[in-house]
Amino acid sequence: MSSSQQRLWNQLQGYWPALKGSLALVHKPCIRPNCPTCASGKKHPNYLLAVTDKGRRRCLYVPGPMVPALKRALKNGRRIEQLLYQMGPALLEEYRAQSPAQTGPAAVFRKSSAQKRSTKS
Ligand SMILES: [Zn+2]
Repeated sequence: MSSSQQRLWNQLQGYWPALKGSLALVHKPCIRPNCPTCASGKKHPNYLLAVTDKGRRRCLYVPGPMVPALKRALKNGRRIEQLLYQMGPALLEEYRAQSPAQTGPAAVFRKSSAQKRSTKS
């Protein structure tokens, strides 16, 4: 593994556990009869985690004590996404460093303009 890949890999491991989804706070009435909280109109706060699994959206109930852990995992998911965006440039840079003559927009431009000239004549 190259040094830039190694660096991203090390960062990635620090961002575990990670998840993608959206955490939403909803207020729902409960099933208890004569509940004072529901009667006051406040209802009960509940956290739901919405995840997409193969295109299908699912909503999962999140127990209160799990909320901080899931918030951290969501943040980690975004950090990992940022790292994955850095991975493309890192891989391309690595490739360029190994074969400098064949890459870069200048090389492509020279090649295509040379071909055009040769087809005209
Ligand atoms: Zn209630």
